This record gives sequence, C-alpha cells and structure tokens, in this order.
Amino acid sequence: MRKKVLIIGGGMAGLSAGTYLQMNGFDTEIFELNQVPGGVCTSWKRGDYTVDWCIHWLVGSGSSDSFYERWSELIDMGHIEIVDHEEYAVVEDDDGNQLHLFTDLDRLEAELLEKAPEDEKKSREFVQACRRLCDLNMPNDQPFEMANLWYKMKWTWKMLPYLGVFGKFSRISTEDYARGFKNPLLRKAIAHLFEPEIPILFCMMTFAWMHKKAAGYPIGGSMNFARRIADRYVELGGRFYYGKRVEKILVENNCAVGIQLPGGAVFRGDYVVSAADGHSTLYDMLDGKYLDPKFEEYYNRRKTFPSLVFVALGVGRNFRSTPHSYMFPLKTPFRIDPQTELNDLYIRVHHFDPTLAPYGKTLVSAMMETRNWEYWVNLQRNDADKYAAEKQRIVQTLIDILEDKLGDVRDLVEMTDVTTPATIIGFTNNWKGSFEGWLITPETGFTQLPPTLRGLGNFYMCGHWVAVGGGLPTAMMSGRNTAQLICAHENKRFEVHAGTQPALLS
Ligand SMILES: Cc1cc2nc3c(=O)[nH]c(=O)nc-3n(C[C@H](O)[C@H](O)[C@H](O)COP(=O)(O)OP(=O)(O)OC[C@H]3O[C@@H](n4cnc5c(N)ncnc54)[C@H](O)[C@@H]3O)c2cc1C
Repeated sequence: MRKKVLIIGGGMAGLSAGTYLQMNGFDTEIFELNQVPGGVCTSWKRGDYTVDWCIHWLVGSGSSDSFYERWSELIDMGHIEIVDHEEYAVVEDDDGNQLHLFTDLDRLEAELLEKAPEDEKKSREFVQACRRLCDLNMPNDQPFEMANLWYKMKWTWKMLPYLGVFGKFSRISTEDYARGFKNPLLRKAIAHLFEPEIPILFCMMTFAWMHKKAAGYPIGGSMNFARRIADRYVELGGRFYYGKRVEKILVENNCAVGIQLPGGAVFRGDYVVSAADGHSTLYDMLDGKYLDPKFEEYYNRRKTFPSLVFVALGVGRNFRSTPHSYMFPLKTPFRIDPQTELNDLYIRVHHFDPTLAPYGKTLVSAMMETRNWEYWVNLQRNDADKYAAEKQRIVQTLIDILEDKLGDVRDLVEMTDVTTPATIIGFTNNWKGSFEGWLITPETGFTQLPPTLRGLGNFYMCGHWVAVGGGLPTAMMSGRNTAQLICAHENKRFEVHAGTQPALLS
C-alpha cells in the first residue's frame, strides 16, 4: 500500500518534496495557507502589469552548473527562456560616478582596475577568487545525513581544490571585506553586493555562477516558474489544497500522525513534512515540545534575513538606457519606518522581461529592507488609516525620487503597489517577515539545521528555515533531501523522472 505524506506549505521546498515523493510512489497532499503555490517565489497581477517579487537570479538556470540537473528533474528547463544579465548592478556615488559590476569576470576586473587603480591588489584578489569558483560544482545528489564514508571522501576530494578559497573568504563578512578597499565607490559597491553580514564567499560564488551563465532570470517571472513545478506536482498525482492553514501537528506515541486545521478538521498520514515557517512549526504547531539546543541557539540568537517594504510602479514608458539593477545615493535620507532610513536606493527596472508590462511600458520596483516588522504589523492591526497613509507616503517619496533621478516618471505612473512586512507575514507566515529565512554569516558558516527532531518520529522539516542561507535552489534541494530521507526510511531506492512539460506562460 502507498504511504501517505502530508506536507505543510506549498513554497519551493514543499513543492519539491511533494514532487520527488510522488516520483517515488508516495501519496502526498500539500496544505497551503494561500490561494496560490510558490510561497515567497511569487508575482501578482495589477491591472496590465505583473508585479514580480522574487527571482533576481536563479542558480542552476544554465547547464554549466549541477543545479540545472536538479531543476531539470522537476521541470523542462530547456523550455524556459533565460536572461543572463551583462551587469550584476550599477552603483553610483554622490558625484554621479558609476561602477558597472559586470558579470563577465574579465570585464569586471578591467572595470574595477580602471575605476580604482589604488585597489588593484584587492580587486584582483576578488576577481581571482570568483574565477577559482567557476569550476566548482557542489555535489548535491544526496543529503549529507545519508552519505556513507565513501561518498564523504568523494565529496571532500571534490572540494579539495576550493578549500583555500572557502577557508579564506567564508570567515569574513561582505561588510568587513569591503572595508579593505580604499576607493569609496568600490567600498560601497562591495558592501552592498548582498546582505552586509553574509560571507563574501557567497557573493564570489554568485559572480562565478553569473559568469558561467548559471544564475540568470527566467522570463515570465517568479510565479510562472513556481507554477511550472506546481503543475508537475499535480501531473504526478499530488494533491494541492489551497487556503488551508495548518494549526497543529498531531503526535501519537512520539510519532507525527497527522495535521489539524482551524475548526478541527483532521488529516492523517504516515509522515508529516513541514515546509512552512520554522518558528510557527516548532513553537505553535508542535507547542515548543521538540526544541533541541541547536534550534534554541538559532531562534534565540541567530539573525534572519530582514523583512521588506517593496514598491512596484507601472510606468507608461520604456527605460532602455537605465540599468536593470541600479543603486544610487539619495539627496536626502528616505525614512521607511521609525527605525529605518535609507541613504541609497536600490531599484530594479524590469525592462528585460516583456511579459511583465504592456509594450512600451515598464515595471520598476524598489526593495527596501527593514527589521522593524513589528511597527508594520501593529500599524496594520491597530491603525488602518495610518497604515494606508504610510504606504502612500512611501510610494509618493519613491515617485519623487525617480522623477528627480530619471525624469518622466511622475505623470506616467499607471500602477502602484506596496507590500510591507505585515503583508509578508499575512501572505507567507514567515517569522519576522523575513524574506529568506536564516541569514548565513561567518558564524553560521554553511551548516544546516537538522531536518528531523529528536524524539519525534515520521516528521521532517525542509525549506529556508532549515537550509541556512535560503534561496530557491537551496529550498528545492532541501525538499529533495527530505524525499530521499523518507525513501531511505522506507528502504526504497530514490528515483527521479525528469520533467518534460511544455512551456507555459500564465
Ligand atoms: C523579494 C525576494 C527576493 C528573492 N530573491 C531570490 C533570488 O533572486 N534567488 C533565490 O534563489 N532566492 C531568492 N529569494 C529567496 C527564495 O525565494 C526563498 O528562500 C525560497 O523561495 C524559500 O522557499 P520555502 O519553500 O523554503 O519557503 P516559503 O516560500 O516561505 O514557503 C513556505 C510556504 O508555507 C506556507 N505556510 C506557512 N505557514 C503555513 C501553515 N501554517 N499552513 C499552511 N501553509 C503554511 C506559506 O504560505 C508558504 O507558501 C527571494 C525572496 C524574496 C522574498
């Protein structure tokens, strides 16, 4: 008889776990609190525009990296049109000087040396490390928990050539590494490559992926990408229940045996997988009964990725000459909330994806980070008028800034859309409105949280609250690993059947 697996959460991790389990002869059901699949990997329609929230780059978009093979197990990657940007970003200083962070490493090196000859040594070191990482293909075909000695030896052997780069650059944060540059524009550009606390190694790996065209953007956007996987899941016989918030995980004889929804509806299964927010899984659905010290260390001390105020504008013109990823200084600080003020603004001009806006028009977005999620949640809950006014103030300020910087914006804005940390929590339940789970730092290193809980059988966790550092390939791999662990528990050989879906654009 086929075993049943109940999966909480239909984001990338839950979809991946479900799809691989269906391939391996399990009956699975995904319970998702939203009306759409994908979790934070999402986009939504606003009038004639599609607001794309998530994918900036997808590791494994090209066949030069082993993640491509993994994505291809789920969907037909050959049918997805990928844009490989020439520039990671353009960063500007107060005098209008621009630094182009090219994704081609030779061009990047030439640009860094030209703009900051005083930083030659440091720039060469940075680019050299990126080049070194280009050949790296992380072994990712089985979870480390299942690896035997032979596999571990093979893994270590494969990683041997990179140990020097890993050792040196995984221990230093991006912010600290940036301090080593003398040129202020370079210093700023490096410091803002990603989160300031993440190891610089992470940024170097991203440049390496982009250089070898393995971290592009899939045309159609985030929801279109997530839907492809959701469709494959259903095609394999998986059942996806929308609008179902799981409230409790049911435990009998120290084993997970089912889930309960608000109102008391109970679903029973042989396994329960939580691919949902980690905090509510551990502290609410399981009442805090299965916290080992590693979890407590993370939930009490470790940093999460921040939350966001995200503004999208639909503008009735093209922005052909504006960089797709652009960071520039502001004339006056932009107050996002009482604890958060920006001196530089980072915008995305989505002209590279014609599916997001009508012909001749453009989606422009600004992703503004904040850790003050409580402010937004309280405002939404207790003062709806002020909440609306604050959102309006932010939109208006952004329009004024863009009018001043780019011209011809104010009168051409046709669509505005704002999401706040309160929206993120309402939509995905992610703790503190974090957009990517646990922040990877020099202290956390590349360690992962355990996918199982001591004292609770038949229960697994996956997603960006287990796979520290988050991201789409990581969440997908975490779901795949869970499927492998369950297969191993059932003494089943893990099998994959590659995806063959036709292209779809919905
Ligand atoms: C703005 C933004 C930009 C990003 N850019 C990139 C990028 O360029 N590249 C990249 O690789 N990654 C990017 N990421 C990160 C990446 O998208 C995430 O790390 C990844 O998608 C996480 O997937 P997940 O399944 O672990 O979690 P989630 O997507 O959070 O999925 C969890 C799911 O569980 C559901 N859920 C929660 N609680 C319950 C409950 N009680 N009952 C039922 N369902 C529940 C939620 O609704 C959600 O659908 C970005 C994220 C954001 C927000």
